[in-house]
Amino acid sequence: MSDLRSRLAVNAHTKLSDIDPRSTPGLPDLRHDPKDWSAQQVGEIGEQLAGYQERLFAAAKHETSKSRVLLVLQAMDCGGKDGTVRAIARGMNPAGLSAVGFGPPTAEERSHDFLWRIRRALPAPGMVGIFNRSHYEDVLVVRVHELVPEKEWSARYEQINAFEKELAGDDLTMVKVMLHISFQEQKERLADRLDDPAKYWKYNPGDLDERQRWDDYQRAYQDALTKCSTAEAPWYVVPADRKWYRNWAVATLLQETFAELDPQYPPADFDVNAERERLKSMP
Ligand code: ADP
Repeated sequence: MSDLRSRLAVNAHTKLSDIDPRSTPGLPDLRHDPKDWSAQQVGEIGEQLAGYQERLFAAAKHETSKSRVLLVLQAMDCGGKDGTVRAIARGMNPAGLSAVGFGPPTAEERSHDFLWRIRRALPAPGMVGIFNRSHYEDVLVVRVHELVPEKEWSARYEQINAFEKELAGDDLTMVKVMLHISFQEQKERLADRLDDPAKYWKYNPGDLDERQRWDDYQRAYQDALTKCSTAEAPWYVVPADRKWYRNWAVATLLQETFAELDPQYPPADFDVNAERERLKSMP
């Protein structure tokens, strides 16, 4: 594989701290302004994604395939999950897309296994799903804040791997992306939010408390990424300090995944020529 997936995929030896959040791996030689180039590329890739999405949907409607695709986005606060969703979803058909965000679990959700709410939110056959946060919060925030005993969260890596393997066997292709920003970039983005009244709604004073636990979170990410990057559901780390690179990289990861999946329109389940003749004979 010489595609972007192989460059960004996490393996057992990946060290998050060795990945520069400002780097731009896999980028072709650019003659143009990178921001303009990226916007144009993301637009073109978006058209391809919409085509794949339609074939996926059509195949499921006619039950020639049950394939579905799920993009899982994880990041530190200000990592750019919302901006990525906007950039990726723009070209796609909203009717075939389900975007779900996961906040702190409700009382009902807490009364079930941590994967319960995740199962309920999975894309149906033919759909493209986007998870803004996911079951990985249960080995990230939950671990950092010791919301459950270590014995419990440390068993979850295996549970997650088994869960994702089961989903892969059930025609779900998962693309797991960690948007990797630097400590400094987070500070700048938090400051931007405080400078712009139109961004106050995105700001939460608790974000600064979380920022103080940066190193704990990086350690938790390191483990989640390396323990749960599998052949069925690999993790990709996308350097995300540069938004234009981030958008291009996530769009490209999806495009490459779809190209391999290669969804096909279902064949006609009627006699096309007979229908043509019948139509011709009508007024
Ligand atoms: P965002 O910050 O992504 O815009 P929200 O403000 O709705 O979204 O909520 C996200 C918050 O929910 C984060 O602080 C996250 O750590 C928390 N959260 C998500 N999943 C869990 C979980 N399983 N347990 C505890 N907290 C969680």
